[in-house]
Amino acid sequence: MSVPEALRVERAAGPEALRVDRAAAPEAPRVERAAAPEAPRVERAAAPEALRVERAAAPEAPRVERAAAPEALRVDRAAALEAPRVERAAALEALRDEIVGCFRCPRLVAWRELVALDKVARFRDEPYWGRPLPGFGDPDARLLIVGLAPAAHGGNRTGRVFTGDASGDFLWAALHELGLADRPSSRRADDGLTLFGVRIAAAVRCAPPRNTPTIEERDACAPFLAREMDLLDTASVVLVLGSFGWNAVLRVLAAAGEPVPVPRPRFGHGATVRIGRRTLVGSYHPSQQNTFTGKLTPPMFRDVLARAKELAGL
Ligand code: SF4
Repeated sequence: MSVPEALRVERAAGPEALRVDRAAAPEAPRVERAAAPEAPRVERAAAPEALRVERAAAPEAPRVERAAAPEALRVDRAAALEAPRVERAAALEALRDEIVGCFRCPRLVAWRELVALDKVARFRDEPYWGRPLPGFGDPDARLLIVGLAPAAHGGNRTGRVFTGDASGDFLWAALHELGLADRPSSRRADDGLTLFGVRIAAAVRCAPPRNTPTIEERDACAPFLAREMDLLDTASVVLVLGSFGWNAVLRVLAAAGEPVPVPRPRFGHGATVRIGRRTLVGSYHPSQQNTFTGKLTPPMFRDVLARAKELAGL
């Protein structure tokens, strides 16, 4: 076919082609228009269902939150109770480090180190601690026991109060008998001895010559006892061993602004006095001088310890 012929055929077909397109064209929007209302109809149909699901879920959420809330509060309460305990234990540890590093009293520093070098024959092969002694026991103690000072070849050797000497044997046996210690004796600081609700500290933290600190040494060491007592706000009862410790504790309480009676309560075995929120109970010190002479017997000590235990609610 020649070019002019082809053009003629297209021209002849042109109006027809346009006619077909025009016929099809209105059809397309009609289909779209028909489909368009259908879509919102589906969405509209789906929407209430979705809302129904959301509405069903909505009340469920607070219910879940409400159910979780008491549990969360329980956890919070447990954490709140735990927090002071953890802080107290950490503060006692920090205090321990300070005590162990103290060199405030020249006479006592010289003595504790001399004893550690010049050992007695029976401990010749043992290492000596030869430093001050921190408190030992339960950081949440309800009963604080305050002694005089470490023994030269007891605590000053083993590194723990009342550990490795006759006074300790006496004390641990009584504590164990009353369920306040997990064993009746202790010879070494690393033996795992555990006290229940009880902590033990001393008025003076270094072993003194002849077991006798000077007044200046007592006063120099008093801040350690004061801080330990302050941290142990759980300890409502203080069992004080001996008149030296009794007077040291009274001075600490008076310095802290506690209502210490005037004249000051006198020490005696079984003496009991309430000062502020604490109760002091006195006992003869379980030193060999007292226990060997019968001034303090195991039943006497057990009785006074049982009284202190009862007062502390242990
Ligand atoms: S007795 Fe107390 S104040 Fe004196 S050196 Fe020992 S720890 Fe320090």
